[in-house]
Amino acid sequence: MHLKLSPEDAAFREELRTYFTTEIPQEIRDAVAQRRELTKEQIVTAHKILNKGGYAVPHWPTEWGGRGWTDLQRHIWHEELQRANVPLPLVFNSSMVGPVIAAFGSQEQKEKFLPATANLDIWWSQGFSEPDAGSDLASLRTTAEYVEDESGARFVVNGQKTWTTLGQYGDWIFCLVRTDPDVKKQAGISFLLIDMTTPGVTVRPIELIDGGHEVNEVWFEDVQVPAENLVGELNRGWDYAKFLLGNERVGVAPVGATKRVLASAKEWAGDLVAEDPFLAARFVELENELLALELTALRVSANSADGKPHPASSVLKLKGTELQQAVSELVVDIAGPGAIASGAGEGSDLEHWQARSTPAYLNLRKASIYGGSNEVQRQIIARTILGL
Ligand SMILES: Cc1cc2nc3c(=O)[nH]c(=O)nc-3n(C[C@H](O)[C@H](O)[C@H](O)COP(=O)(O)OP(=O)(O)OC[C@H]3O[C@@H](n4cnc5c(N)ncnc54)[C@H](O)[C@@H]3O)c2cc1C
Repeated sequence: MHLKLSPEDAAFREELRTYFTTEIPQEIRDAVAQRRELTKEQIVTAHKILNKGGYAVPHWPTEWGGRGWTDLQRHIWHEELQRANVPLPLVFNSSMVGPVIAAFGSQEQKEKFLPATANLDIWWSQGFSEPDAGSDLASLRTTAEYVEDESGARFVVNGQKTWTTLGQYGDWIFCLVRTDPDVKKQAGISFLLIDMTTPGVTVRPIELIDGGHEVNEVWFEDVQVPAENLVGELNRGWDYAKFLLGNERVGVAPVGATKRVLASAKEWAGDLVAEDPFLAARFVELENELLALELTALRVSANSADGKPHPASSVLKLKGTELQQAVSELVVDIAGPGAIASGAGEGSDLEHWQARSTPAYLNLRKASIYGGSNEVQRQIIARTILGL
């Protein structure tokens, strides 16, 4: 199947390509291409430039910066960002809390948070998971007790969140908290916005297998949160979380980025591809699978009506992360003995991609866990798509 864009869509793609490759600093795009860890400043800089051009939150309601694009245009946008090595807009802001506040927040919350969220003036963290509440998220135990006295109406939050990605940079954290312990577990959860500088909030790093500091534990000890920071209705947080997690899954198949790494891998492999038929077959297989995934992504985005994600988004999550991991494994194999030198510094004789191959491979083990583990995605596919 060959997809041909209409002249309008092709012009739209050109417009994006030009903006992404001329406005986002080359140094940031090089860092993405070389699979380096980005600094906070690089992520913020790229996000702000995207927002200036109207490219950070195009899927939001137009009133809050959305562009009213078609699903195909949104898909092209996502692909072109990855193709140009532009860091994607911070997912916690653009795909998670922003759409939730826009859909369920009060007018005051929208005015206070949405422009700052779109422009990454506020860096949001996601406080959902807890030590015993990951896949079984509804078991979460962090409590928020409603109190009303002379100092005002507020929630007092106690508990622990874990795996909080880039929480060390977070200004605010959106949390699922238990506000009623006496009902069915899904029915006693609320969605709360918490300023991370509030006394009683502690962020502790978790050390990762690739040596990076990407995730954290966040502790809450008698944290006082103004009642107006509750999103939507009390005890309706589970509905908002489902809306958010559905959006999370749509963006989680990084087809463009994986295609780009695979294309680079071909360059890195050089003559090896011609010399080794088995290696050549691995390239061909991965290229074909990526093409199939790309077409599926198009079908899924075309079928997501009224902001409701299509259940097939689970297929994208599952297959997208499997391919991402398979390509990272291929790069390790191509790097050969150089793959062991993951600690090699800038002065090393090794090519940078070789030194990065193992940390990148190890880091991507996470992809089949976060955003809903792949085993759980298989359950969703079995139940909602295959009807098993
Ligand atoms: C790098 C990374 C970043 C993350 N970032 C964030 C973040 O910013 N904010 C946040 O809130 N959370 C974050 N998470 C948490 C992530 O969403 C959870 O790790 C994930 O939901 C899985 O939960 P768990 O780790 O508790 O594993 P568990 O749920 O304990 O699962 C353990 C194993 O059992 C399997 N399993 C569980 N239930 C079933 C089932 N019903 N059927 C079949 N198999 C099952 C799982 O697939 C897995 O293999 C992050 C996780 C990682 C690894």
